[in-house]
Amino acid sequence: MTLQIIDGKALANQIKEELKLEVEHWVENGGKRPHLAAVLVGDDPASQAYVRNKVKSCEQVGFQSTLLKYEADMAEDDLLDIVKGLNENPEIDGYIVQLPLPKHIDENKILLAIDYRKDVDGFHPVNFGRMAQGLDSYLPATPMGILTMLDRYNIETSGKDVVVLGRSNIVGTPISILLSRKAKVGNATVTLTHSRTSDLEGHLKRADIIVAAIGIPLFVKKEMVKQGAVIIDVGINRVTSPDTKSGYKLVGDVDYDHVAPNCSHITPVPGGVGPMTVVSLLQNTMKAAKETIYNKP
Ligand code: NAD
Repeated sequence: MTLQIIDGKALANQIKEELKLEVEHWVENGGKRPHLAAVLVGDDPASQAYVRNKVKSCEQVGFQSTLLKYEADMAEDDLLDIVKGLNENPEIDGYIVQLPLPKHIDENKILLAIDYRKDVDGFHPVNFGRMAQGLDSYLPATPMGILTMLDRYNIETSGKDVVVLGRSNIVGTPISILLSRKAKVGNATVTLTHSRTSDLEGHLKRADIIVAAIGIPLFVKKEMVKQGAVIIDVGINRVTSPDTKSGYKLVGDVDYDHVAPNCSHITPVPGGVGPMTVVSLLQNTMKAAKETIYNKP
């Protein structure tokens, strides 16, 4: 068995090229250039980097983009007004509010205020509910990126035992729903594990596919993984490192160096799930511009 590294960066670049052609074709035929807006509140360095990346990716595929930046102490009501304005602005096809928000702002209140027809992050309960029922919807970007990776790398999921580590609303819970749906990439038997799971190691050892999304550096060790398993590492953890100029580096939730030799496929960090998340957001925005799922508000 040879190990195959799932190159999320290369795949994301390939999909961006495909999207660029799709945009050109759409605009040449009279379509409106897709326009994504991103709202960033505060100065969290990771959030700033994610949003910068999203805006840059829009440029690469020929989308218009708008970045709206606000101070960390902005009032919740003011953010709700911004959201209302974006809902009503016919120029904007889709938008995201970068999470996490400052503590004094109720994230759920903001996410509920986003018009589900512009919710290209797929976090609104209408999109989440439709996803759970197998109806067409904007899928949350990270789980959608994982499905695309499994699909393009021809990794069989039907009948497989999948163990998902972590039950967040943006990764663990939706990917567990998606992989158990009756769909081309789906039909798996999924176990959703979390901080209260007993015998986590026992579950992991039985898994054909592991999706790790807990945010603990190098948590999944070699002895927890079955020979030949497929590993999708969602974690992005900043750890100190004497080897880099900045003094830190990014690692996943999986102890890559020791786990990889026993796997059939594995995603690296960085360069795995991260770039696929951004590309999925672009794909959702393209669908919004084309009104593939919903008519415009
Ligand atoms: P989160 O941080 O909101 O929640 C962590 C989850 O892990 C919880 O459900 C908790 O029950 C579970 N957990 C914590 N400790 C555990 C333990 N010891 N055993 C079992 N389960 C445990 O989750 P999140 O927002 O999905 O983020 C997870 C990681 O993924 C983070 O590192 C984050 O930065 C990263 N992330 C990456 C992307 C990407 O595009 N690659 C996107 C989103 C999140």
